[in-house]
Amino acid sequence: MSHIIHRSLAGTPPVAAAAQGIWITDANGKRYLDACGGAAVSCLGHGHPDVLAALHAQIDKLAYAHTGFFTSDAAEGLAKHLAAHAPGDLTHCYFVSGGSEAIETALKLARQYFVELGEPERTTFIARRQSYHGNTLGALAVGGNEWRRRQFAPLLMDVVRVSACNEYRDRAADESQEQYTARLLNELEQAILDAGPQTIIGFVAETVVGATSGAIPPTPGYLAGVRRLCDKYGILYIADEVMCGMGRTGTLYAFEQDGVVPDIVAMAKGLGGGYQPIGAVIASDKVLAPLRTGSGLFQHGHTYICHPTAAAAALAVQQVIQRDNLLVQVQERGAQLAALLREALGDNPFVGDIRGRGLFMGVELVRDRETKTPFDPALKLHVAIKRHCLARGLMVYPMGGTLDGRQGDHVLLAPPFIISPQQTEQVVTHLTAAIREETEKAAG
Ligand code: PLP
Repeated sequence: MSHIIHRSLAGTPPVAAAAQGIWITDANGKRYLDACGGAAVSCLGHGHPDVLAALHAQIDKLAYAHTGFFTSDAAEGLAKHLAAHAPGDLTHCYFVSGGSEAIETALKLARQYFVELGEPERTTFIARRQSYHGNTLGALAVGGNEWRRRQFAPLLMDVVRVSACNEYRDRAADESQEQYTARLLNELEQAILDAGPQTIIGFVAETVVGATSGAIPPTPGYLAGVRRLCDKYGILYIADEVMCGMGRTGTLYAFEQDGVVPDIVAMAKGLGGGYQPIGAVIASDKVLAPLRTGSGLFQHGHTYICHPTAAAAALAVQQVIQRDNLLVQVQERGAQLAALLREALGDNPFVGDIRGRGLFMGVELVRDRETKTPFDPALKLHVAIKRHCLARGLMVYPMGGTLDGRQGDHVLLAPPFIISPQQTEQVVTHLTAAIREETEKAAG
């Protein structure tokens, strides 16, 4: 019997015994092609020799030193690398242990920015429905996934909630993309005005929505509109790039494709590629300035911030991405993946939408394509697809639809950037078979 509180209390998952490249092998010797990087984490695949070498060298030299006493070459080197490659004046880094901590850090940094400016009445965040920002209480509060929030709702701070940018679900038949985008931006502006702009700290959004919705990119102009409104009302724009960032969409940051620069960015997952637990916030000069001239202290901190071993691993991951030109690889394999998915599943009566950017793709399943009616959540179609794929030796990341029944089961793909053209074909072949068989069974 396992003494771990596993994700599902119903049983113990297989034991992962080894991993190399895009393959994970379990204790029985069964191999799985990791087409989701776990949860969009393993951007370089497993066992990359350069990352392992950097990791070993760092552990031999210095595994840990508390930031109350020291900084380290590893953390300084990672910060320098990130500052050099981020757009605009995003140059100030804070390193934590994962995505939820990065979001908490972003929220507190944003709040302190206004306190230092002498605007303590700013106490509210604006966030979107169908979003996920992590599982700690602050991150859950800004998150809009009702299933994850429902048991904890009484413990969560209030936020102003606005619509997600979900063109497939929400753009009306007689509405152009521009009109839909303008409608969302009007809604956001009205929400700011209703709450009172002087009470708002920041707007928080995933650039490409990941875990709740399956790789939904913003419509053209949406984030530029968000940026304009934030500037107009003096509100900070906080981008959650924990899942979609660090090259996953074909640019280092997904928002680069939207021509915007946020004030604060949270990242994790692909930052360290799973070699070590690490998350980060990168913030602009504007955000840091009042802290410097004010209290001179960011009122935050965890025992493992700036962890040297984690920073060394992340720096090695990021250097390999640059050196091996892997963003081009993401663009090329991403285009292949999108084309193969559309070819194999585009006409499937139970596939409502295929979307995404780069190697971050989602497939949404519906019982009725015309009306976009999802399958009954009680059928747990996403679980059946996951099981089916695992039996075929394929790891994908399926999720159920929303509680209100407005969004269907979906499957997220986020393979390592090193996936080959043949392996990309293999992923689509197995996933297509799993979707065909399981949707037909679910449809009766
Ligand atoms: N933000 C986004 C967009 C995520 O997808 C996740 C995790 O899936 C988080 C935040 C939380 O990250 P973590 O699980 O590392 O705490």
